[in-house]
Amino acid sequence: MKKALLIIVMAAVAAAVVFWGRPKADKPEPVQKETRFLMDTYVSIQVPGDPQAIKTIEKAFDRMEEVDRKFNVLNPESPLYRFNHDNAPIADPEILALLATALEISEESGGAFDVTVYPLVDLWGFFRGAPAVPASPDIAACLKKVGWRQLRIENGVLAKPNDGVKIDLGAIAKGYAVGEAVKVLKGAGVTSALIDAGGDIFAIGELRGRPWKVGIRNPRGEGVMGALDVSDLTIVTSGDYERFFEKDGVRYHHILDPASGYPAGGLMSVTVICDDATRADGLSTALFVLGPEKGMELVERLDGVEAIMVTKDQKILTSSGLKGAMDAAGAPMAENPFVAIGR
Ligand code: AMP
Ligand code: MG
Repeated sequence: MKKALLIIVMAAVAAAVVFWGRPKADKPEPVQKETRFLMDTYVSIQVPGDPQAIKTIEKAFDRMEEVDRKFNVLNPESPLYRFNHDNAPIADPEILALLATALEISEESGGAFDVTVYPLVDLWGFFRGAPAVPASPDIAACLKKVGWRQLRIENGVLAKPNDGVKIDLGAIAKGYAVGEAVKVLKGAGVTSALIDAGGDIFAIGELRGRPWKVGIRNPRGEGVMGALDVSDLTIVTSGDYERFFEKDGVRYHHILDPASGYPAGGLMSVTVICDDATRADGLSTALFVLGPEKGMELVERLDGVEAIMVTKDQKILTSSGLKGAMDAAGAPMAENPFVAIGR
């Protein structure tokens, strides 16, 4: 039996919020909160209690900004940019450590997760303003450059196997940044905090003696489709609504299947719940590519990892550790009932 997480999925609610706490009726203590725009999204960190906590929050943000600069493939100062454009080998231990985690997830997912998809991401133009469906020979040509098994870290260095190989840690770096912020906060003695980096959320401890409540976004339309009560867990969602365009009634999004070179089909969103933000981020992308059947098979093999998936036909699937939620599987989103799971 795989280790289950202690989670409660609460009622489906229609409020247009991503997360919120539940203060007790009597005089709630103030919450220190700051929001910055980084990693292409609004990130907020909140810590209830001590007004001095704002300084710690700023340190956590500074650390996240450092990670952002280092891992941003569009930053000419980044070793990743120099690897991609100038064929410069990478010796930065922090990048190599995250790359090693990414390669583990590639192995686990049978290559669904692959940081060498960057030439394809670039071809589709998701980060260049006006994305468009590429010509199929161009996709075929790009696919020849893709393949995580070409990457080898030898003697503390990643050298380019050939000039065509380009890498992008974007599917895992945001989770890593969140994990680093968690380290800064905990290192400063913070025992209660919520970090929300768009689809990547980490809840430290509890909010005034109760778990943090985190909403899972409805992948279509406004609001959330349900919420989780969590403590010392991360909740990371990958969705087809984050970056996409439509052409002839077809939605093309930014999560690409390295086997076909096209956006992965099958799912609208995948939410991963575990205690490691880096892995959760990588896995949510991996599961999205694997699709509902193979994706859930992988979740069931992994200890301490749970997932919620919304399929293209709007069915909600939950992993076995989210037991009560199994009632919701197969129900249309709007009818997703109250479920209590994991306890
Ligand atoms: P996420 O939002 O965490 O799911 O990450 C999506 C981003 O990861 C995309 O914008 C791409 O830059 C990159 N990406 C797309 N497909 C893959 C894939 N199959 N494996 C790894 N990274 C990918
Ligand atoms: Mg991801």
